Amino acid sequence: MKVPVTVIPARGKPTPVVFDSPHSGSHYPEDFDYVVPLSMLRRGEDPHVEELFAAAPDNGAPLIAAEFSRMYIDPNRSAADIDPDMFDGDWPHPLEVSHKTKSGMGLIRTRSGRNRKPIYERKLSVTEIRNRIENYWQPYHDTLREALDQTHERFGATWHINCHSMPSKWATGFEKAGEPNDNDYVLGNRDGTTAGVEFTELVRETLSGFGFNVGVNDGQKGVELVRAYSDPENERHSLQIEINRRLYWDERNMVKRDGHFEEQRKIMTALVEVICDYARSKAG
Ligand SMILES: [Zn+2]
Repeated sequence: MKVPVTVIPARGKPTPVVFDSPHSGSHYPEDFDYVVPLSMLRRGEDPHVEELFAAAPDNGAPLIAAEFSRMYIDPNRSAADIDPDMFDGDWPHPLEVSHKTKSGMGLIRTRSGRNRKPIYERKLSVTEIRNRIENYWQPYHDTLREALDQTHERFGATWHINCHSMPSKWATGFEKAGEPNDNDYVLGNRDGTTAGVEFTELVRETLSGFGFNVGVNDGQKGVELVRAYSDPENERHSLQIEINRRLYWDERNMVKRDGHFEEQRKIMTALVEVICDYARSKAG
């Protein structure tokens, strides 16, 4: 089976930065067998985020993107984040069941949309969950981890940018669910544990210097992908960026906003340049 992950290798000056986009995939594998409308599932995608960061490779940083939908399996969750009520049979590994798992937002989502509709009319089998982990989740993690390890080996440091977009209204599960999100961007470093202060400040200042509202760890703090491979004390920095979709996406009609999409891509190109220049200067 082909690995369902796109990697655009770095070109140009070698740079200790890696970008990844885990939620922009729009492939819905045939065995998904969901019972909600596809358009409802598609609202869970972070649409075209990998295109917004397309300048990364020319700035010396690889760009990794999932091809499969995060609604099928979410690379940004732990592989143990599975609700035991969603499958038949015995799971061969330990599970970490959280409040989020139980509300249907774990590794394999069981609910979708504002009304939290059940995605399945059936229980999943252990075999199909294992297939999703082994053939989708694992290759994504392996690809990202290898890119970060190679970069760290070569430069002694890595800066990992985990790229997302967020709905213009706070999603279900957040304290302000349903209210407009006033942040244009939210940076997440899990309360300072996944990226250094200096780097986080650089990104915050750059975006606010362009005239935007930038939240830091405001609701969106980063999840599994910034947690898993970061270690700021050993110069492994991982920062999540959430872009407010209203800046580039027509959420009602699910199309790019004319002009705004290109504008947003230019802004992200400028940000990529700042981040890559910084990382090269720090890694000497
Ligand atoms: Zn996302």
